[in-house]
Amino acid sequence: MKEKLHFNSKTIHGGQQPDKAYGAVMPPIYQTSTYAQTTPGGHKGFEYSRTHNPTRQALEKSLASIESGKFGFAFGSGLAAMDAVLKLLKPGDEIISTDDLYGGSYRLFTKIFEDFGLKFHFVGMDNLQNISLLINEKTKLIWVETPTNPMMNVIDIKAISALAKPHGIFVAVDNTFASPYLQQPLTLGADIVMHSATKYLAGHSDVVLGSLVLNNEALAERIGFIQNASGAICGPMDSFLTLRGIKTLHVRMQRHCENANAIANYLKKHSKIEKVYWPGFEDHPNHQVAKTQMKDFGGMLSFVTKGGDYSASIKIIEKLKLFTLAESLGGVESLAGHPASMTHASIPKNLREKSGVVDSLIRLSVGIEDVRDLIADLKQAIG
Ligand SMILES: *Cc1c(COP(=O)(O)O)cnc(C)c1O
Repeated sequence: MKEKLHFNSKTIHGGQQPDKAYGAVMPPIYQTSTYAQTTPGGHKGFEYSRTHNPTRQALEKSLASIESGKFGFAFGSGLAAMDAVLKLLKPGDEIISTDDLYGGSYRLFTKIFEDFGLKFHFVGMDNLQNISLLINEKTKLIWVETPTNPMMNVIDIKAISALAKPHGIFVAVDNTFASPYLQQPLTLGADIVMHSATKYLAGHSDVVLGSLVLNNEALAERIGFIQNASGAICGPMDSFLTLRGIKTLHVRMQRHCENANAIANYLKKHSKIEKVYWPGFEDHPNHQVAKTQMKDFGGMLSFVTKGGDYSASIKIIEKLKLFTLAESLGGVESLAGHPASMTHASIPKNLREKSGVVDSLIRLSVGIEDVRDLIADLKQAIG
């Protein structure tokens, strides 16, 4: 019955039931590494906490439910979850991904997995032809991130999944920026959805955690095997915090979207602002895709000041009082970041600038404070 619920109920009830031991409404934090057996193999489904833990399992069921998938897996970080996906592949396999990728993902691909014989291609994915030109019999995975970070390009998940399917290529979507409140990639044809739950899912900047959700049973079995065999799991406390965060995801996301909308429109009219990147604008190149694929336009945006350079942007960021200068995103509090020197510092400058991540670009993760206070803060900082 619970899987038929609407999204705003699934965040609270999806895959959940009162704890079997004492009826606790929230799953207890099962801070244990091991479980008593009555005879070798005689246990209640839990043997060792790398393999299974009741608190993590409650989270994994919630994750599957909110992404409209069958199988959920939680990891120690978003990158650990990605690492597990890449371990599905073999030397010689090829992966196509976007040229506007989260810096840490780019680093994992090029600095770790290239050495294991995987070959990565990075292309602009809003043009499908860029992808189809690269597809060959070695192509095994298409890795999508949408909206992209920090340029806010929107990639058509349904179109890419349709393109990949006849070739037997798996499509994985990093859904961190959108969250399942805005889009559910599995329902659009993707095979794997990944999250840095550190961001919107947990939502309170107090935990680092990653997740995967899938529908394909054979693929899920392999991911479960890798999760246990490689061991990059999350602990029970972090599972609990993430589960608690998910319960308010829909209310938080609604406010994130409203506030970002107001701020994007404020900045667009500002005489000192050159350009605002936010998919809600009708003149955003992927606005139509965003409108069809997403429920709303999210809480992230980026902007460039007029004639702005490195130092002008740094000055604005330093003047902000309510927006905190910090890495990360998706928490209740507003953050400002400078991608060129922070999240994207690991991407070579020429590659970075080609995709629009210039030195003067400022990225905002719009929180859920009173938007009047956020706008007042931007006003005093930009001048
Ligand atoms: C933060 C982030 C990651 C990495 O997640 P961690 O939890 O920090 O390991 C991956 N993709 C995107 C889009 C992110 O924002």
